Amino acid sequence: MTAETGRWIRNFVAGQFVEPDENRSFDKTDPATGRVFARVHEADRDLVDRAVSAARRALHDGWATTPVRERAALLRRAADRIEERFEEFVAAEVADTGKPVTQARELDVARALTNFRTFADVVAAAGQESFLTDLAGGRQALNYAVRKPLGVVAVVVPWNLPLLLLTWKVAPALACGNALVVKPSEETPATATLLAEVLAEVGLPAGVYNVVHGFGGDSAGEYVTSHPGIDGVTFTGSSATGSHVMKTVAPRVRPVSFELGGKNAAVVFDDVDIDEALAGLTRSVFTNTGQVCLCTERVYVQRSVFADVAEGLAERARGLRLGDPLDERTTTGPLISQTHRNKVLSYFELAEQAGAKVLTGGGVPQLGPGLAGGSWIEPTLWTGLTNADRPVREEIFGPVAALIPFDTEAEAIALANDTEYGLAASVWTNDLRRGHRVAQSMNVGMAWVNTWFLRDLRSPFGGVGLSGIGREGGESSLHFYTEPTNVCVQL
Ligand code: NAD
Repeated sequence: MTAETGRWIRNFVAGQFVEPDENRSFDKTDPATGRVFARVHEADRDLVDRAVSAARRALHDGWATTPVRERAALLRRAADRIEERFEEFVAAEVADTGKPVTQARELDVARALTNFRTFADVVAAAGQESFLTDLAGGRQALNYAVRKPLGVVAVVVPWNLPLLLLTWKVAPALACGNALVVKPSEETPATATLLAEVLAEVGLPAGVYNVVHGFGGDSAGEYVTSHPGIDGVTFTGSSATGSHVMKTVAPRVRPVSFELGGKNAAVVFDDVDIDEALAGLTRSVFTNTGQVCLCTERVYVQRSVFADVAEGLAERARGLRLGDPLDERTTTGPLISQTHRNKVLSYFELAEQAGAKVLTGGGVPQLGPGLAGGSWIEPTLWTGLTNADRPVREEIFGPVAALIPFDTEAEAIALANDTEYGLAASVWTNDLRRGHRVAQSMNVGMAWVNTWFLRDLRSPFGGVGLSGIGREGGESSLHFYTEPTNVCVQL
């Protein structure tokens, strides 16, 4: 490791941080500046083997049968400890992603606490199914299902909301008594590693939570998901990787929970309160520099208010403040990497070729010498595209949206549903019945009316089509992270 890289981000296996290997490691870069600030130890196949074995051992050594009340208490202690070390998590998340410090505090780390507390409550309150079955001759049978942990679960997560998405899986999985091998994104290794410290501090037994760092193919991601000792995979990431992981686990028929990509629509009717809708749309298009799976990239607007919405949204986009992530006035950070920026820029080119009019943005901003090496991009809005154009069909995952007019409610529904994805949608209207009607007709896992990304963690979360398989959240999470054994007793 060179002096300037400063520190190591290590793997955590069987309750211990593993001594790093300089020959098997990679640089971690700050996306805001382009500067390398850490080295990450890439786990090899042998280390992943050790992590899976440690997880299996921890299950057998008693974790799988720990009373629910104790697991719930441990989750609450984890939340309290993250709260005590809150600013360390914030600093780690900001350094890894370049996201504004205010967002890391209010969304990412705050949600990590809530994830642990919510699933402590959910598991403590969960019941079990039972049926009294009438038999011939007046006799009965009692059927009841006992839920057992799924076992050793591979948790593979992306870089956009690293700690939020990780704890969204880790909290319910631990609540249900599973042991985990976590593979964070190579772009954002820090907070999963810090969480290992916290979980050890609050008394999680060694081997229950393991972290292995690395990439996807022919690296830790593939080693974990293809490992014969894994009982299930919970994965959040792109649809293409999800499809690949599904093939990897298919020969051994393991359950998967997939939270994948999106190409989410907003539908804005002309009866809406325009200022309220503009505030909501600004959040839904630009939060986290557009790098939230739920972000809106298609905005369908009723024709009579199209010009007002387009101009109003462009004005708000121009008002976003890009800059130093540690400055509390910054609203918008960089993209995660230069590679990702090249991808987003390629869609800027495609939009231009398709005849888009650029309302605002469309390029790379100049933010001064300190940030010149970062992967910054301008918030960008287009008109003049249709559903036939690739920038309107494919997930871009940046601070961009295409605005497209419509005339009737039926047309709006058809346009919004004209996609292979099906994660989220939002409907903006002051007509109560229309709001319910249109939201229910969206072919998605989550539809919002007059809001966006407002979550009750007990409700189901997930997508249809290319956006995923299964739901997590509340009882849906308990279902994925457990296997029922039905017992039938003739009475
Ligand atoms: P990605 O699919 O490239 O990577 C996700 C994770 O999978 C990373 O940890 C990566 O190292 C790993 N991986 C990559 N190839 C693998 C392989 N062959 N085998 C095993 N693991 C592999 O996704 P990303 O670029 O990190 O994240 C952005 C994507 O995630 C977007 O498509 C976004 O919509 C999606 N996402 C979805 C949700 C949701 O809840 N639906 C939430 C956040 C992000």
